[in-house]
Amino acid sequence: MTSYVLPPEAPASVPVEGETAVFPVRRILCVGRNYAAHRREMGGDDRDPPFFFAKPADAVVPPGEAVPYPPRTTDLHHEIELVVALKGGGSDVPVEQALGLVYGYAVGVDLTRRDLQNAAKGKGHPWDAAKGFDASAPISAIRKWDGAPPQGRIALSVNGQLRQEGQVADMIWNLAEVIAEASKLWTLAPGDLIFTGTPEGVGPIVPGDVVEGEVEGVGQLKFTVSA
Ligand code: MN
Repeated sequence: MTSYVLPPEAPASVPVEGETAVFPVRRILCVGRNYAAHRREMGGDDRDPPFFFAKPADAVVPPGEAVPYPPRTTDLHHEIELVVALKGGGSDVPVEQALGLVYGYAVGVDLTRRDLQNAAKGKGHPWDAAKGFDASAPISAIRKWDGAPPQGRIALSVNGQLRQEGQVADMIWNLAEVIAEASKLWTLAPGDLIFTGTPEGVGPIVPGDVVEGEVEGVGQLKFTVSA
């Protein structure tokens, strides 16, 4: 048995509906610009291929916890996303087999320090500080899933005002394609989460805001931004 020079942290985890056991998070991959209208609002072109970035596993904020307003930004943005939780893995997974890796789905928000992201884009710097900061991935409980993937409404409101609304079916790359593409770049494994992109309407949130997101058939997420 391995002995450690420091006590290792327990893995980050997400609750699962109807289970007392929790889902252990291995890593978090995220797709950029996977809905055409959001791609255009960010200045992209519909012909650009989607791309991936990552957040650390411990960026997840379990449901019911407040999200602290992060330091070094004055422009924190919400991005509502459908999240895929994997029970299987592999590399170069064929599209036809990709949905067989799915344990379930959750509702997540890809929080973004937009001012740092815009500065990084301008300088050609990496996005880690803009995307992968502490508590940057609030998430609902995972709903276990068999069969056809969610296709319905995805929406987010702030203080009761609708900000984002779209259809999962409008993704440029569908869920099977996202998983297959990710597996070309990384060896996927049980415990991986994939944030699958956001529809248009991203915008700022501030301390005190109440953020509510939902994906039809998958669930709801609600959190308060704390100072
Ligand atoms: Mn995103």
